[in-house]
Amino acid sequence: SLVGSEMCIRDRGTIVMKILVINAGSSSLKYQLIDTDNEAVLAKGNCERIGQNGAFIGFKTPDGKKINRKTQMLNHTQAFEAVKNALIDPEYGAISDLSEVSAVGHRVAQGGAYFDKSVLVNNSVINKIRELAPLAPLHNPAHLQGIEACTRVFGPKVPQVAVFDTAFHQTMPEKAFMYAIPYKYYEKFGVRKYGFHGTSHRYVSEKMADLMGRKKEELKLITCHIGNGSSITAVKGGKVIDTTMGLTPLGGFMMGTRSGSLDPSVITFIAEKEHLTPEEMSKILNKESGLLGISGVSSDDRDVCAAEADGNMRAHLAHEMLYYQIAKYIGSYYVALGGCDGIVFTAGIGENQPMLREKVCDYLECLGVKLDKEFNKQATCGVTGTLSTPDSAIRVELIATDEEMVIARDLSLIHISEPTRLRCI
Ligand code: ADP
Repeated sequence: SLVGSEMCIRDRGTIVMKILVINAGSSSLKYQLIDTDNEAVLAKGNCERIGQNGAFIGFKTPDGKKINRKTQMLNHTQAFEAVKNALIDPEYGAISDLSEVSAVGHRVAQGGAYFDKSVLVNNSVINKIRELAPLAPLHNPAHLQGIEACTRVFGPKVPQVAVFDTAFHQTMPEKAFMYAIPYKYYEKFGVRKYGFHGTSHRYVSEKMADLMGRKKEELKLITCHIGNGSSITAVKGGKVIDTTMGLTPLGGFMMGTRSGSLDPSVITFIAEKEHLTPEEMSKILNKESGLLGISGVSSDDRDVCAAEADGNMRAHLAHEMLYYQIAKYIGSYYVALGGCDGIVFTAGIGENQPMLREKVCDYLECLGVKLDKEFNKQATCGVTGTLSTPDSAIRVELIATDEEMVIARDLSLIHISEPTRLRCI
């Protein structure tokens, strides 16, 4: 069935007002309704356990009360129905009619080599996201289910835009994105570095240029997104030249539960000793490693901090490893960029953990980085600003990222004139 759309964002007025940002996973669906005029979050919630028993939608009411509603959600379409009902709920709803939603932005993990910017979703875009599914088996099929469900529930008139995690990294040169394995695997399967968190790295690097009062074209920046998932990116003249994550978000340095890059033999060695399938090995590297694997305490850095303060030596080791690995990547990107004008810390840990920034900047003293230790200590829980002293050779900045807001802003900048025609999959 054809549920086509001849609408475009511009048809609905030059300024996009209310953007619904969707992050669809295989069994979850997070949403935020954002007014791009004043950047207010009008509604926010998540559907959990889609396709399972005990599915529910959780959201906050306008007065801040948390509501959890059990709702049958056998599939993503039913999840979107629940989102719709929450948005237009007579008591708690942020809007009175769905027509108030100007456009929907979908976060899409893997855009491969096809997409270097956000695009209006049409059938050719859908086909490419599907084609890339083998590179992101946990993510892309779920995003497609989200797009299809959105088309069914919100109807053909609402334009949908795909915002790719990989897009900003598409400027990387071959020498940075190739792996030194037989070339045929690149040709056959597209095995190469793609990089992720692109929306966040793009936002903080552009913001950094603004704050420095310089054109992005003339800057060499290193952006550190340190959260549950973490990556560092080298941005030269506004373009990515290298990033830590790779074919998948497992690459780079240690994260909450991910190992980051390691000697590939570690994987074959353990798999052989423990008789593990690739799937089992992948679970260990993705879900049981990183801060959790080393500390044995938790993947959440707040818990690791508390354990370290209690004298837990493995929590301490996990932190020492993390700080060291971050500093080494910054050092290598300093060389890759041929110098550095600014370093940005962002995301959950980058924004809230002064100790991490202090320890990393200690390593960077050899590059002339000088940290304002007093301000750094205060810079947490929403306090942002310049972390370095005025005489530091490299400016170090704390910038808050907000991927949903960045996606909403991106949509409000997109001028789409081509018509879309979505076919239900
Ligand atoms: P995700 O990758 O899931 O978006 P976040 O960027 O939200 O993750 O980062 C989550 C991490 O940030 C967790 O390890 C958490 O401990 C840490 N974090 C979040 N808020 C704080 C805080 N106020 N103080 C210390 N750490 C925090």
